[in-house]
Amino acid sequence: MKLAVIGSGYVGLVAGAGFSDFGNHVTCVDIDPSRIERLRRGEIPFHEPGLSELVQRNARQGRLVFTTDTAEAVRDAEVVFLAVGTPSRPDGSADLSYLFEAARQVGRSLTGFTVVVTKSTVPVGTGDAVRDAIGQVTSQRFTVASNPEFLKEGDAINDFLKPARVILGSDDPQAIDILRRLYTGFLRTSDRIQVMDLRSAELTKYAANAMLATRISFMNELAALADKVGADIEKVRKGIGSDPRIGAKFLFPGVGFGGSCFPKDLRALHDMGKANDVRLGIIECAIEANTRSKQAFAARMIERLGGSLAGKRIAIWGLAFKPETDDIREAPALDVIGQLRSKGAAIVGYDPIAGDNVRALLGNSISLVDDPYGAADGADAIVLITEWHQLRQPDFARLRKAVRTPLLFDGRNVWDPVAARRAGFEYIGIGRPSGG
Ligand code: NAD
Repeated sequence: MKLAVIGSGYVGLVAGAGFSDFGNHVTCVDIDPSRIERLRRGEIPFHEPGLSELVQRNARQGRLVFTTDTAEAVRDAEVVFLAVGTPSRPDGSADLSYLFEAARQVGRSLTGFTVVVTKSTVPVGTGDAVRDAIGQVTSQRFTVASNPEFLKEGDAINDFLKPARVILGSDDPQAIDILRRLYTGFLRTSDRIQVMDLRSAELTKYAANAMLATRISFMNELAALADKVGADIEKVRKGIGSDPRIGAKFLFPGVGFGGSCFPKDLRALHDMGKANDVRLGIIECAIEANTRSKQAFAARMIERLGGSLAGKRIAIWGLAFKPETDDIREAPALDVIGQLRSKGAAIVGYDPIAGDNVRALLGNSISLVDDPYGAADGADAIVLITEWHQLRQPDFARLRKAVRTPLLFDGRNVWDPVAARRAGFEYIGIGRPSGG
């Protein structure tokens, strides 16, 4: 099948590479010429495990091409995916300006019947508005469908090529037939396609992210209580996670969630509730609890270090919003760094791959080093924010020799408190007052 993907970011590039790997001819479009230039040279503009090989293989074999020219990509394409960003506006609502701009460009480029699919995460009703916007600029026949994306950064290829489910939203049987055909290759073991109307598909994506984020906020609130009452949230987590009705995933307490999706999607969902006069109190609480978690974590450090952090040096381990990505959009590390700096701390950060993005954002206001042990040199505290594998079992004895003050803050509860104490550290985790 001939496909076009508009927007070559995390979602568009993974989808484009994934579809081409199944034998389709895919043209990926982006408005950023330097991004397209790099992609043509086989360079991936961000870190995603396995993506480079997938892109290079399919590009080499001629099934995956890159352009800044939407018209060239859309001409003769049977299906066009819109995968541009839908960031937050200052009031929390989703900014759909990129999406409608892309939709109008696609509309003006249509040369025959085409299925236009929103893959971006969009508020309910956007698909209908996209249909109107395209209808105003073309006389060609087209149909609009929703196919929200559920991939996780860091494991995106696996999620895309082996999806837990594929949601197809449309009332048009022809659109569903074409999209079904496109996805059949991905779903050999079982048919995991769910067909629904466009609006339900749009809402399903927000509902999924809101449920996952709410579980995290729920655990973070309970962790704060565990801290006060002398319970260990890690034991509580295992205790409830073993109940099949609850399940063990997304129950990990921590410094708070961040990233390019959860925070903005919760805000957009909350805004949708407001616009429709429906109070989404749970979503509101999940957002507030997340803000409190990040503040409480930093406040605990500030209190433990005596209020003023002037002259204190703090090592931050992990800057990306989660492991296996260099994405720092709304990364909790940035929040924590901001709070520590406002009290005068000097920050030395380490991340296996997100350092360049942090440098571009924060400039020289923090130091960045290439080695976690180097970051710990002369530090008054080591703080784990992103639980990269390589940071999970540090050599505490070596760290003890490097630091000025033997103090650990484990923002993900992954370090062994007993081993840390044995090496002479004071260990402070999240909701584990007795320290495991
Ligand atoms: P991104 O910012 O990485 O990529 C978007 C790309 O679109 C950019 O490269 C931008 O230059 C390009 N673009 C903007 N306007 C364009 C236009 N008119 N024509 C061509 N290209 C254009 O965004 P992302 O993280 O890939 O997210 C895209 C959408 O997918 C968002 O709605 C997001 O919520 C959703 N989503 C993201 C993830 C994720 O993990 N990142 C997962 C599921 C869904």
